[in-house]
Amino acid sequence: MTDIFYSLESEVRSYSRSWPVEFVQASGATQTDSNGTQYLDFFSGAGALNYGHNHPAVMKPLVEYLQSGGVLHGMDMMTPAKREFLQTFKDVILEPRDLHYKVMFPGPTGTNTVEAALKLARKYTGRQHILSFTNAFHGMTLGSLSVTGNSMKRQGAGIPLTNSSKIPYDDYLDGETPDFLWLERVLEDSGSGVDKPAAIIVETVQGEGGLRAARFDWLRRLAELCQEHEILLIVDDVQAGCGRTGTFFSFEEAGITPDIVCLSKSISGSGLPMALTLFRPELDIWSPGEHNGTFRGNNPAFVTATAALREFWADPSFQSRLADTIDTLQSRIEAIALSTSGAGVRGRGLLTGIVFDDPEAATKIAAEAFREGLLLETSGPQDEVVKLMPPLTISAEDLDRGLDILEAAIRTVTGPAVDTPTATEAPAA
Ligand SMILES: *Cc1c(COP(=O)(O)O)cnc(C)c1O
Repeated sequence: MTDIFYSLESEVRSYSRSWPVEFVQASGATQTDSNGTQYLDFFSGAGALNYGHNHPAVMKPLVEYLQSGGVLHGMDMMTPAKREFLQTFKDVILEPRDLHYKVMFPGPTGTNTVEAALKLARKYTGRQHILSFTNAFHGMTLGSLSVTGNSMKRQGAGIPLTNSSKIPYDDYLDGETPDFLWLERVLEDSGSGVDKPAAIIVETVQGEGGLRAARFDWLRRLAELCQEHEILLIVDDVQAGCGRTGTFFSFEEAGITPDIVCLSKSISGSGLPMALTLFRPELDIWSPGEHNGTFRGNNPAFVTATAALREFWADPSFQSRLADTIDTLQSRIEAIALSTSGAGVRGRGLLTGIVFDDPEAATKIAAEAFREGLLLETSGPQDEVVKLMPPLTISAEDLDRGLDILEAAIRTVTGPAVDTPTATEAPAA
């Protein structure tokens, strides 16, 4: 039945190798395969399904819109669907947070918004160089790859990836070298040979690169340095944004205001493709059409995006329930990590994971979890982290059940629980 995937589809496919079943239906935190087997989804479309699969609050307006004869494809033309999205985004997200960003629709993917951000930063500053961080992931097109860390993905470019340098992310060095020591020196030294960058691009939690979470102090110092040296700060919130860390933007708790913000993945609320690039109004120096894209006006995505903002973010109880879900997840995985030798906790909010000293453990655990009906992936340069990304809307029962499966899979792979805490890493602050 599934032969066509193996014979016709390119070898580049990857998730279908880890989970070699045909998924036929999806609802909330559950996916069902063609044999009727149900899987709990702690993967959530790599963060594109923060409100679970097919949430009724986003599906109902979508179905109504499709049946109404509304515009599906609209370039960057004006439509009621786009108007309502912009108005709702302003009222529900920007204004309550006192953010005054302009909103750009850069094409519907994460890498599209990163490319737009890099292009705008270069245009605005007249500088070419971009700094990014060790183990960063920003997407697979050439500009985004040039600021990505992973060597396998970088090599896929087939050409030199230029005009960018990598600097150490939080907690990358020995824990003793002061943060940003190198950066501070080279920015002040005209003989350093490091070109002054147009921008520094950062993830507050490294979704693909191993789920390291930057400390808020570290993010604040980074923002200060950018301001002191007139370097634009880009936060790539494609994965950590839209509530993953407990607040709409992942940088809110750090109290910083980036110059440019990249959003995609869960911004449509439904899994439909959509992306935004937000920036300070002064940066809006684009000429009309200077950056464009055929699929910027994905109107069904605007409809579901508006519905998600209204259903979840306009309701204060959503964020308090989310905080409870985060507490439950964090305390369970801390306990699991403490009772597993060579394991530690990584990440923040519902973008979190367990790192293992044995680099093969995480892959084996994810495979064992799949056999027991739980979808989760690995993260990090050696796939050394089991990544947990349940929907923000998951029920307490489903969360517990998924964590029970995870714990059992860890025991199967790494052996029985240990009494003495031997966690290798302290839980993220
Ligand atoms: C997924 C992701 C991207 C790329 O998004 P695509 O839609 O796959 O192009 C960029 N940045 C971050 C942080 C991501 O997690």
